[in-house]
Amino acid sequence: MKPDKQLTVREQIIRCLEAEPMTARDLSKALRISEKEVYSHLPSIEKSIRHQKKQIKITPCSCLNCGFEFKDRKTYKKPGKCPECKKSRIEPAVFQITGSAEGRFPLPSAGPV
Ligand SMILES: [Zn+2]
Repeated sequence: MKPDKQLTVREQIIRCLEAEPMTARDLSKALRISEKEVYSHLPSIEKSIRHQKKQIKITPCSCLNCGFEFKDRKTYKKPGKCPECKKSRIEPAVFQITGSAEGRFPLPSAGPV
């Protein structure tokens, strides 16, 4: 009899995000880790699933006050406040793992053109 294989935190995050779209807060509750830890795993997860032709689809954070979308953000973390209206009611980004490129939010290219 083989014992149940213990999934790593990253594997658990991948499973969750493949099943349904979730915010960092949802993941932190589901896996009983801090949101900070969730964010710290996301870049590595994105790299590791790329080999399987999968990717993290991100619905960007948006401002609950004026609707501004943080499309140019290069990090996964939630911004502190809105650059448009300076309010800090920010809707968190939603992450999902998808098997194809469709619907992917394009990341801005790094560096000056
Ligand atoms: Zn705003």
